[in-house]
Amino acid sequence: MFTEWFDLWLAFALPVEVPPARDRLAGSLIGQCLGDALGFVVEGYSKEICQEYVDEILLTDKAGTIGRSPHQFGQYTDDSQLTRTLIESYVACRGFDPEDYAQRLADLFTEQRVVGRGRASTAAAVRLAQGVPWQQAGVPAPYAGNGAAMRAAPIGWMFPNRHVTLIETARVQARITHTDPRAIAGSVVIAGAVALALRTREGRLKRETMIETLADWVRPIEPSFAADLEQLQSLVGREPADAHWLISRAGRKLGDNDVGTDRWQASDDIISGYVVPSVLWSLYSFLRSPEDYWGAVCLAISGGGDTDTTAAMTGAISGAYLGLDALPRRLAERLNDCGTWNFDELVALANAFSTVRNRGA
Ligand SMILES: [Mg+2]
Repeated sequence: MFTEWFDLWLAFALPVEVPPARDRLAGSLIGQCLGDALGFVVEGYSKEICQEYVDEILLTDKAGTIGRSPHQFGQYTDDSQLTRTLIESYVACRGFDPEDYAQRLADLFTEQRVVGRGRASTAAAVRLAQGVPWQQAGVPAPYAGNGAAMRAAPIGWMFPNRHVTLIETARVQARITHTDPRAIAGSVVIAGAVALALRTREGRLKRETMIETLADWVRPIEPSFAADLEQLQSLVGREPADAHWLISRAGRKLGDNDVGTDRWQASDDIISGYVVPSVLWSLYSFLRSPEDYWGAVCLAISGGGDTDTTAAMTGAISGAYLGLDALPRRLAERLNDCGTWNFDELVALANAFSTVRNRGA
């Protein structure tokens, strides 16, 4: 009920935000790719090493001086490759078509073009390539990695003002690779956060309202994820060291290894590839400094572990809220995917999406 009233209020209060401005869509895509490229440099490392990278490289104007071997700085990874592919599919089909997206996703893996591939997405892509229908390709529970959440931002672009359709579409896109309700809920949170960021005027963000709305949206899918989001209300006011200790353990009972992801789950002192802590940490990083893209992305990376994904998700939300001009252009212009899909091409793709969407696709 609350979210319906919230939608109604937004429809009257913020009519100028519908449809989203083109620079906010480009901001979301470039914000994601740049966060991904910055986080990729230290992906999988400890919190201490990641904090050192933030303090000695990112906060001292040396960002971009180191990449992740064998890549130069600017290479982004699977998170943004699969996000970009979702946008390409939308533009080509003039709407979201899960069959087309699943085919494109499978092609990316089959052609060995994915950088830093995740286990579930790889397994699903193999099944898709073997002819398994997309409705049956996703890995079963209890695999709850963040592979569906990391590529969900464009769902927020599609339906910034229609949360029922947004939730259903975020569920469907997640199901192509993941069927665990926690992984699906993560897709809804990231798509929803991007939608809420897009339709909020800069400087007007209400952190409590954003968290409450997202919790309402995921509760029917995974009540425990909604409860974890509610906990975030009190954590946003706490310093990163305290919040990190709690968020890195979120969604896990004591001794519980039932998260189904092998990405650094043995350590409690990093943000692993498990969808619950990585989505919560990304949201926390954005909400700690919503008016500052660089600060948000640096905080995401300082959590250690799955830093390309947390910085990508944080960057997608922050870029949607602040727009393209708020991002560091000098670094953004170095983005590329093995020499293709550079800054100009990514911005052109976001603009093509905007054109298709505004024509009523
Ligand atoms: Mg990645």
